[in-house]
Amino acid sequence: MLTAAPWDEPDELTAVRGMVQRLLGRHLPLDRALELDRTGSFDRATWEALGAAGLLGLGADEDAGGSGGTVRDAVAVTEELARVLPSLAVDYVLSGMAMRMLTDTGSDRARRWLPDIASGRRICSFGLSEPGVGTDLLNLATTAREVDGQWVVNGRKTWISLASEADVVFTLARTDPAEPAHKSRGLSLIAVPTDQDGVTIRRVHLAGMRAAITCEVFLDDASAPLDNLVGTRGRAMSILGRTLDVERVMAAAISLGIGRAALDLHVAYAGERTAFGRAIGAFQAVAHPAADSICELSAARALVDSTVRMIGRGEPALAHSAMAKLNAAEATARIVDRGMRAMGAMGLADESAMQMYFRDARLQLFSPVSNEMVRNVLTESMGLPRSY
Ligand SMILES: Cc1cc2nc3c(=O)[nH]c(=O)nc-3n(C[C@H](O)[C@H](O)[C@H](O)COP(=O)(O)OP(=O)(O)OC[C@H]3O[C@@H](n4cnc5c(N)ncnc54)[C@H](O)[C@@H]3O)c2cc1C
Repeated sequence: MLTAAPWDEPDELTAVRGMVQRLLGRHLPLDRALELDRTGSFDRATWEALGAAGLLGLGADEDAGGSGGTVRDAVAVTEELARVLPSLAVDYVLSGMAMRMLTDTGSDRARRWLPDIASGRRICSFGLSEPGVGTDLLNLATTAREVDGQWVVNGRKTWISLASEADVVFTLARTDPAEPAHKSRGLSLIAVPTDQDGVTIRRVHLAGMRAAITCEVFLDDASAPLDNLVGTRGRAMSILGRTLDVERVMAAAISLGIGRAALDLHVAYAGERTAFGRAIGAFQAVAHPAADSICELSAARALVDSTVRMIGRGEPALAHSAMAKLNAAEATARIVDRGMRAMGAMGLADESAMQMYFRDARLQLFSPVSNEMVRNVLTESMGLPRSY
Protein backbone atom coordinates (compact mmCIF):
# COMPACT_ATOMS: atom_id res chain seq x y z
CA MET A 1 0.00 0.00 0.00
CA LEU A 2 1.28 3.51 -0.80
CA THR A 3 2.03 5.49 2.34
CA ALA A 4 3.96 8.64 3.17
CA ALA A 5 6.76 6.54 4.72
CA PRO A 6 10.31 6.73 3.30
CA TRP A 7 10.78 4.24 0.45
CA ASP A 8 14.49 4.17 -0.19
CA GLU A 9 16.33 3.73 3.06
CA PRO A 10 18.82 1.19 4.39
CA ASP A 11 17.50 -1.32 6.93
CA GLU A 12 19.61 0.25 9.71
CA LEU A 13 17.75 3.53 9.32
CA THR A 14 14.38 1.79 9.32
CA ALA A 15 15.49 0.15 12.56
CA VAL A 16 16.39 3.54 14.08
CA ARG A 17 12.96 4.89 13.15
CA GLY A 18 11.31 1.82 14.70
CA MET A 19 13.31 2.26 17.89
CA VAL A 20 12.23 5.91 18.20
CA GLN A 21 8.58 5.04 17.64
CA ARG A 22 8.69 2.27 20.26
CA LEU A 23 10.28 4.64 22.78
CA LEU A 24 7.72 7.35 22.05
CA GLY A 25 4.93 4.79 22.15
CA ARG A 26 5.87 4.10 25.78
CA HIS A 27 6.44 7.73 26.82
CA LEU A 28 4.20 9.79 24.57
CA PRO A 29 1.03 8.02 23.49
CA LEU A 30 -1.22 10.42 21.56
CA ASP A 31 -3.24 11.64 24.56
CA ARG A 32 -0.03 12.41 26.49
CA ALA A 33 1.52 14.24 23.51
CA LEU A 34 -1.64 16.32 23.12
CA GLU A 35 -1.68 17.06 26.85
CA LEU A 36 1.94 18.31 26.74
CA ASP A 37 1.00 20.48 23.78
CA ARG A 38 -2.17 21.80 25.43
CA THR A 39 -0.43 22.62 28.71
CA GLY A 40 2.85 23.74 27.12
CA SER A 41 4.87 21.31 29.23
CA PHE A 42 8.26 19.70 28.95
CA ASP A 43 8.53 16.03 29.87
CA ARG A 44 11.97 15.52 31.36
CA ALA A 45 11.48 11.75 31.65
CA THR A 46 11.00 11.49 27.87
CA TRP A 47 14.05 13.70 27.29
CA GLU A 48 16.19 11.51 29.54
CA ALA A 49 14.83 8.39 27.83
CA LEU A 50 15.98 9.86 24.49
CA GLY A 51 19.36 10.43 26.11
CA ALA A 52 19.53 6.90 27.56
CA ALA A 53 18.75 5.50 24.10
CA GLY A 54 21.73 7.42 22.67
CA LEU A 55 19.52 9.68 20.56
CA LEU A 56 20.47 13.02 22.12
CA GLY A 57 24.14 12.25 21.52
CA LEU A 58 23.75 11.63 17.78
CA GLY A 59 26.11 13.76 15.74
CA ALA A 60 28.81 14.13 18.39
CA ASP A 61 31.84 11.84 18.38
CA GLU A 62 31.73 8.88 20.75
CA ASP A 63 35.15 9.71 22.22
CA ALA A 64 33.83 13.19 23.10
CA GLY A 65 30.83 11.71 24.93
CA GLY A 66 28.32 11.62 22.09
CA SER A 67 26.91 8.56 20.38
CA GLY A 68 28.38 9.07 16.90
CA GLY A 69 25.99 8.40 14.06
CA THR A 70 25.41 10.33 10.86
CA VAL A 71 23.39 13.39 9.91
CA ARG A 72 21.07 10.95 8.14
CA ASP A 73 20.38 9.18 11.46
CA ALA A 74 19.66 12.50 13.19
CA VAL A 75 17.36 13.59 10.35
CA ALA A 76 15.38 10.34 10.62
CA VAL A 77 15.09 10.68 14.42
CA THR A 78 13.95 14.29 14.04
CA GLU A 79 11.22 13.29 11.59
CA GLU A 80 10.01 10.51 13.89
CA LEU A 81 9.84 12.89 16.88
CA ALA A 82 7.95 15.47 14.82
CA ARG A 83 5.35 12.86 13.83
CA VAL A 84 4.45 12.48 17.49
CA LEU A 85 5.11 15.88 19.09
CA PRO A 86 6.59 18.52 16.75
CA SER A 87 7.65 20.77 19.66
CA LEU A 88 9.86 18.00 21.00
CA ALA A 89 11.58 17.79 17.61
CA VAL A 90 12.32 21.54 17.80
CA ASP A 91 14.04 21.09 21.16
CA TYR A 92 15.84 18.01 19.87
CA VAL A 93 17.24 19.90 16.88
CA LEU A 94 18.42 22.81 19.05
CA SER A 95 20.11 20.49 21.52
CA GLY A 96 21.81 18.68 18.64
CA MET A 97 23.05 21.97 17.22
CA ALA A 98 24.55 22.90 20.59
CA MET A 99 26.34 19.57 20.68
CA ARG A 100 27.66 19.87 17.15
CA MET A 101 29.06 23.31 17.92
CA LEU A 102 30.73 22.09 21.08
CA THR A 103 32.27 19.20 19.16
CA ASP A 104 33.31 21.51 16.36
CA THR A 105 34.87 24.22 18.49
CA GLY A 106 36.08 22.14 21.40
CA SER A 107 36.64 24.44 24.38
CA ASP A 108 37.71 22.19 27.25
CA ARG A 109 34.88 23.23 29.51
CA ALA A 110 32.38 22.84 26.71
CA ARG A 111 33.66 19.36 25.86
CA ARG A 112 33.25 18.34 29.48
CA TRP A 113 29.53 19.08 29.12
CA LEU A 114 28.99 16.81 26.15
CA PRO A 115 28.37 13.55 28.03
CA ASP A 116 25.76 15.27 30.22
CA ILE A 117 24.02 16.90 27.26
CA ALA A 118 24.03 13.59 25.42
CA SER A 119 22.48 11.84 28.41
CA GLY A 120 19.82 14.54 28.88
CA ARG A 121 21.08 15.49 32.36
CA ARG A 122 22.26 18.91 31.16
CA ILE A 123 20.07 21.00 28.88
CA CYS A 124 21.20 23.86 26.64
CA SER A 125 19.25 26.40 24.70
CA PHE A 126 20.17 28.89 22.00
CA GLY A 127 19.77 32.63 22.53
CA LEU A 128 20.06 34.31 19.16
CA SER A 129 16.77 36.19 18.58
CA GLU A 130 16.01 39.42 20.41
CA PRO A 131 12.93 41.66 20.65
CA GLY A 132 14.49 43.97 18.05
CA VAL A 133 16.07 41.38 15.72
CA GLY A 134 15.23 38.00 14.29
CA THR A 135 16.21 37.70 10.65
CA ASP A 136 18.52 40.70 10.91
CA LEU A 137 20.74 39.08 13.56
CA LEU A 138 23.86 41.12 12.87
CA ASN A 139 22.14 44.13 14.41
CA LEU A 140 21.56 42.54 17.80
CA ALA A 141 21.89 44.61 20.96
CA THR A 142 23.16 42.10 23.54
CA THR A 143 26.74 42.76 24.66
CA ALA A 144 29.37 40.75 26.50
CA ARG A 145 32.37 42.47 28.07
CA GLU A 146 35.44 40.94 29.65
CA VAL A 147 35.52 42.21 33.26
CA ASP A 148 37.85 40.90 35.99
CA GLY A 149 38.46 37.59 34.26
CA GLN A 150 34.90 36.75 33.30
CA TRP A 151 32.23 37.66 30.76
CA VAL A 152 29.56 40.12 31.81
CA VAL A 153 26.55 39.85 29.54
CA ASN A 154 23.69 42.35 29.15
CA GLY A 155 20.68 42.21 26.88
CA ARG A 156 17.39 40.49 26.24
CA LYS A 157 16.69 37.39 24.20
CA THR A 158 13.28 36.30 23.04
CA TRP A 159 11.58 33.17 21.63
CA ILE A 160 14.25 31.00 23.27
CA SER A 161 13.15 27.38 23.26
CA LEU A 162 13.66 25.35 26.41
CA ALA A 163 15.36 28.21 28.27
CA SER A 164 13.41 27.68 31.50
CA GLU A 165 14.67 24.08 31.62
CA ALA A 166 18.19 24.89 30.50
CA ASP A 167 21.40 24.90 32.50
CA VAL A 168 23.06 27.20 29.97
CA VAL A 169 21.91 29.53 27.23
CA PHE A 170 24.29 29.73 24.26
CA THR A 171 24.04 33.49 23.93
CA LEU A 172 24.96 35.44 20.82
CA ALA A 173 26.42 38.75 21.94
CA ARG A 174 28.56 41.55 20.62
CA THR A 175 32.01 41.35 22.19
CA ASP A 176 33.85 43.54 19.67
CA PRO A 177 32.91 46.43 17.39
CA ALA A 178 31.50 45.56 13.98
CA GLU A 179 33.96 45.92 11.12
CA PRO A 180 32.46 47.84 8.17
CA ALA A 181 34.11 45.47 5.67
CA HIS A 182 33.08 42.35 7.63
CA LYS A 183 29.73 43.05 9.21
CA SER A 184 29.46 39.55 10.62
CA ARG A 185 32.55 39.96 12.79
CA GLY A 186 32.55 40.98 16.44
CA LEU A 187 29.81 38.63 17.58
CA SER A 188 30.62 35.77 19.96
CA LEU A 189 28.76 32.79 21.34
CA ILE A 190 28.98 32.50 25.12
CA ALA A 191 27.44 29.75 27.23
CA VAL A 192 25.74 31.69 30.03
CA PRO A 193 24.76 29.60 33.08
CA THR A 194 21.10 30.18 33.97
CA ASP A 195 21.48 29.54 37.70
CA GLN A 196 22.43 33.10 38.75
CA ASP A 197 20.79 36.39 39.76
CA GLY A 198 21.76 38.08 36.49
CA VAL A 199 19.52 35.77 34.46
CA THR A 200 15.72 36.01 34.55
CA ILE A 201 13.61 33.69 32.42
CA ARG A 202 9.95 34.21 31.62
CA ARG A 203 7.73 31.84 29.64
CA VAL A 204 6.11 33.11 26.44
CA HIS A 205 2.83 31.49 25.43
CA LEU A 206 2.36 30.82 21.73
CA ALA A 207 -0.32 29.35 19.49
CA GLY A 208 2.17 26.88 17.99
CA MET A 209 5.01 24.63 19.16
CA ARG A 210 3.72 25.10 22.68
CA ALA A 211 5.69 22.26 24.21
CA ALA A 212 8.98 23.65 22.86
CA ILE A 213 8.89 25.83 26.01
CA THR A 214 9.59 29.19 24.44
CA CYS A 215 10.90 31.88 26.80
CA GLU A 216 12.27 35.38 27.13
CA VAL A 217 15.70 35.63 28.75
CA PHE A 218 16.77 38.82 30.52
CA LEU A 219 20.52 39.19 31.01
CA ASP A 220 21.43 41.86 33.56
CA ASP A 221 25.14 41.74 34.30
CA ALA A 222 24.95 37.98 33.88
CA SER A 223 28.36 36.38 34.24
CA ALA A 224 30.07 33.48 32.57
CA PRO A 225 33.60 32.08 32.91
CA LEU A 226 35.91 33.22 30.09
CA ASP A 227 36.29 29.70 28.75
CA ASN A 228 32.52 29.45 28.25
CA LEU A 229 33.25 31.18 24.95
CA VAL A 230 32.18 28.68 22.30
CA GLY A 231 34.67 28.85 19.43
CA THR A 232 36.67 31.93 18.53
CA ARG A 233 35.94 35.37 19.90
CA GLY A 234 34.22 37.62 17.37
CA ARG A 235 33.63 34.76 14.91
CA ALA A 236 30.30 33.35 16.10
CA MET A 237 28.71 33.82 12.70
CA SER A 238 31.24 31.54 11.06
CA ILE A 239 30.64 28.91 13.78
CA LEU A 240 26.89 29.19 13.18
CA GLY A 241 27.49 29.17 9.42
CA ARG A 242 29.44 25.91 9.57
CA THR A 243 26.41 24.03 10.87
CA LEU A 244 23.87 25.87 8.74
CA ASP A 245 23.34 23.12 6.17
CA VAL A 246 22.69 20.57 8.92
CA GLU A 247 20.36 22.94 10.76
CA ARG A 248 18.33 23.46 7.59
CA VAL A 249 17.89 19.78 6.76
CA MET A 250 16.92 19.18 10.38
CA ALA A 251 14.27 21.90 10.04
CA ALA A 252 13.13 20.19 6.83
CA ALA A 253 12.90 16.90 8.74
CA ILE A 254 10.52 18.50 11.26
CA SER A 255 8.34 19.57 8.33
CA LEU A 256 8.43 16.05 6.85
CA GLY A 257 7.37 14.59 10.21
CA ILE A 258 4.45 17.00 10.61
CA GLY A 259 3.40 16.53 6.98
CA ARG A 260 3.53 12.76 7.21
CA ALA A 261 1.53 12.65 10.43
CA ALA A 262 -1.07 15.04 9.03
CA LEU A 263 -1.41 13.07 5.81
CA ASP A 264 -1.75 9.76 7.67
CA LEU A 265 -4.53 11.30 9.74
CA HIS A 266 -6.20 12.84 6.67
CA VAL A 267 -6.32 9.39 4.99
CA ALA A 268 -7.41 7.51 8.13
CA TYR A 269 -10.21 9.98 8.84
CA ALA A 270 -11.37 9.98 5.22
CA GLY A 271 -11.68 6.20 5.44
CA GLU A 272 -13.62 6.17 8.72
CA ARG A 273 -15.92 9.17 8.65
CA THR A 274 -19.13 8.70 6.73
CA ALA A 275 -21.50 11.20 5.08
CA PHE A 276 -24.37 10.48 2.72
CA GLY A 277 -24.00 6.78 3.41
CA ARG A 278 -20.37 6.40 2.37
CA ALA A 279 -16.86 7.11 3.62
CA ILE A 280 -16.00 10.75 2.91
CA GLY A 281 -12.84 9.42 1.20
CA ALA A 282 -15.14 8.28 -1.62
CA PHE A 283 -15.68 11.95 -2.46
CA GLN A 284 -12.93 13.17 -4.72
CA ALA A 285 -13.01 16.56 -3.01
CA VAL A 286 -11.67 14.81 0.12
CA ALA A 287 -9.54 12.13 -1.58
CA HIS A 288 -7.70 14.08 -4.29
CA PRO A 289 -6.10 16.54 -1.88
CA ALA A 290 -4.52 13.50 -0.16
CA ALA A 291 -3.05 12.50 -3.53
CA ASP A 292 -1.61 15.99 -3.96
CA SER A 293 -0.20 15.79 -0.43
CA ILE A 294 1.58 12.48 -0.96
CA CYS A 295 3.14 13.74 -4.19
CA GLU A 296 4.38 16.92 -2.50
CA LEU A 297 5.61 15.14 0.59
CA SER A 298 7.46 12.50 -1.45
CA ALA A 299 9.11 15.18 -3.59
CA ALA A 300 10.11 17.08 -0.44
CA ARG A 301 11.53 13.87 1.03
CA ALA A 302 13.56 13.19 -2.12
CA LEU A 303 15.16 16.65 -1.91
CA VAL A 304 15.91 16.21 1.80
CA ASP A 305 17.41 12.74 1.17
CA SER A 306 19.60 13.92 -1.66
CA THR A 307 20.82 16.89 0.42
CA VAL A 308 21.58 14.63 3.37
CA ARG A 309 23.63 12.39 1.08
CA MET A 310 25.60 15.44 -0.14
CA ILE A 311 26.31 16.43 3.47
CA GLY A 312 27.31 12.82 4.22
CA ARG A 313 29.84 12.94 1.37
CA GLY A 314 31.25 16.19 2.78
CA GLU A 315 30.09 18.26 -0.21
CA PRO A 316 28.96 21.88 0.14
CA ALA A 317 25.19 21.76 0.50
CA LEU A 318 24.17 25.27 1.54
CA ALA A 319 21.89 25.94 -1.43
CA HIS A 320 20.41 22.45 -1.43
CA SER A 321 19.74 22.48 2.32
CA ALA A 322 18.09 25.89 1.86
CA MET A 323 15.87 24.48 -0.91
CA ALA A 324 15.09 21.41 1.19
CA LYS A 325 14.05 23.56 4.16
CA LEU A 326 11.91 25.94 2.13
CA ASN A 327 10.27 23.26 0.00
CA ALA A 328 9.42 20.95 2.91
CA ALA A 329 7.97 23.81 4.99
CA GLU A 330 5.78 25.10 2.17
CA ALA A 331 4.62 21.59 1.24
CA THR A 332 3.71 20.85 4.84
CA ALA A 333 1.79 24.10 5.22
CA ARG A 334 -0.40 22.95 2.30
CA ILE A 335 -0.64 19.36 3.58
CA VAL A 336 -1.92 20.40 7.02
CA ASP A 337 -4.37 22.79 5.43
CA ARG A 338 -5.78 19.98 3.27
CA GLY A 339 -5.94 17.73 6.35
CA MET A 340 -7.89 20.35 8.27
CA ARG A 341 -10.39 20.75 5.42
CA ALA A 342 -10.86 16.98 5.19
CA MET A 343 -11.67 16.72 8.90
CA GLY A 344 -14.24 19.49 9.17
CA ALA A 345 -15.01 20.42 12.78
CA MET A 346 -13.06 17.43 14.10
CA GLY A 347 -9.87 19.00 12.77
CA LEU A 348 -10.27 21.80 15.30
CA ALA A 349 -11.12 19.54 18.26
CA ASP A 350 -8.68 19.43 21.15
CA GLU A 351 -8.55 15.63 20.98
CA SER A 352 -7.54 15.68 17.32
CA ALA A 353 -3.83 15.96 16.54
CA MET A 354 -4.62 17.79 13.27
CA GLN A 355 -5.06 21.13 15.05
CA MET A 356 -1.60 20.69 16.63
CA TYR A 357 0.01 19.88 13.27
CA PHE A 358 -1.79 22.86 11.71
CA ARG A 359 -0.52 25.29 14.36
CA ASP A 360 2.97 23.80 14.56
CA ALA A 361 3.49 23.87 10.79
CA ARG A 362 3.42 27.67 10.93
CA LEU A 363 6.79 27.83 12.72
CA GLN A 364 8.41 25.94 9.88
CA LEU A 365 7.73 28.82 7.50
CA PHE A 366 9.94 31.28 9.37
CA SER A 367 12.25 29.39 11.73
CA PRO A 368 15.13 28.89 12.19
CA VAL A 369 15.34 31.15 9.14
CA SER A 370 12.36 32.62 7.33
CA ASN A 371 11.45 31.22 3.93
CA GLU A 372 11.61 34.76 2.53
CA MET A 373 15.24 35.00 3.63
CA VAL A 374 15.89 31.57 2.11
CA ARG A 375 14.43 32.86 -1.16
CA ASN A 376 16.84 35.82 -0.92
CA VAL A 377 19.76 33.46 -0.48
CA LEU A 378 18.66 31.28 -3.39
CA THR A 379 18.09 34.15 -5.80
CA GLU A 380 21.48 35.58 -4.86
CA SER A 381 23.04 32.15 -5.51
CA MET A 382 21.45 32.29 -8.95
CA GLY A 383 23.26 35.55 -9.67
CA LEU A 384 20.49 38.05 -8.93
CA PRO A 385 21.32 41.20 -6.91
CA ARG A 386 21.04 41.19 -3.10
CA SER A 387 17.90 42.95 -1.98
CA TYR A 388 18.75 43.74 1.64
C1 LIG B 1 8.33 28.32 18.76
C2 LIG B 1 9.53 29.15 18.46
C3 LIG B 1 10.77 28.74 18.91
C4 LIG B 1 11.91 29.51 18.66
N1 LIG B 1 13.10 29.12 19.20
C5 LIG B 1 14.16 29.95 19.10
C6 LIG B 1 15.38 29.65 19.82
O1 LIG B 1 15.47 28.63 20.52
N2 LIG B 1 16.41 30.52 19.73
C7 LIG B 1 16.33 31.66 18.98
O2 LIG B 1 17.30 32.41 18.95
N3 LIG B 1 15.21 31.99 18.30
C8 LIG B 1 14.12 31.16 18.35
N4 LIG B 1 12.96 31.46 17.69
C9 LIG B 1 12.91 32.68 16.87
C10 LIG B 1 13.01 32.38 15.37
O3 LIG B 1 14.29 31.92 15.05
C11 LIG B 1 12.63 33.68 14.64
O4 LIG B 1 11.23 33.80 14.74
C12 LIG B 1 13.10 33.73 13.23
O5 LIG B 1 14.50 33.85 13.19
C13 LIG B 1 12.47 34.92 12.47
O6 LIG B 1 12.66 36.11 13.16
P1 LIG B 1 11.41 37.05 13.54
O7 LIG B 1 10.29 36.19 14.00
O8 LIG B 1 11.91 38.09 14.45
O9 LIG B 1 10.96 37.67 12.18
P2 LIG B 1 11.45 39.06 11.55
O10 LIG B 1 12.93 39.02 11.37
O11 LIG B 1 10.87 40.19 12.31
O12 LIG B 1 10.76 38.99 10.13
C14 LIG B 1 9.37 39.25 9.98
C15 LIG B 1 8.99 39.05 8.52
O13 LIG B 1 9.80 39.89 7.68
C16 LIG B 1 10.44 39.13 6.69
N5 LIG B 1 11.77 39.66 6.38
C17 LIG B 1 12.71 40.15 7.23
N6 LIG B 1 13.81 40.52 6.56
C18 LIG B 1 13.57 40.26 5.24
C19 LIG B 1 14.32 40.42 4.03
N7 LIG B 1 15.55 40.92 4.02
N8 LIG B 1 13.75 40.02 2.88
C20 LIG B 1 12.48 39.52 2.85
N9 LIG B 1 11.73 39.34 3.95
C21 LIG B 1 12.26 39.71 5.14
C22 LIG B 1 10.58 37.74 7.31
O14 LIG B 1 10.71 36.75 6.31
C23 LIG B 1 9.26 37.61 8.07
O15 LIG B 1 8.24 37.22 7.17
C24 LIG B 1 11.81 30.70 17.90
C25 LIG B 1 10.56 31.12 17.43
C26 LIG B 1 9.43 30.37 17.73
C27 LIG B 1 8.09 30.87 17.24
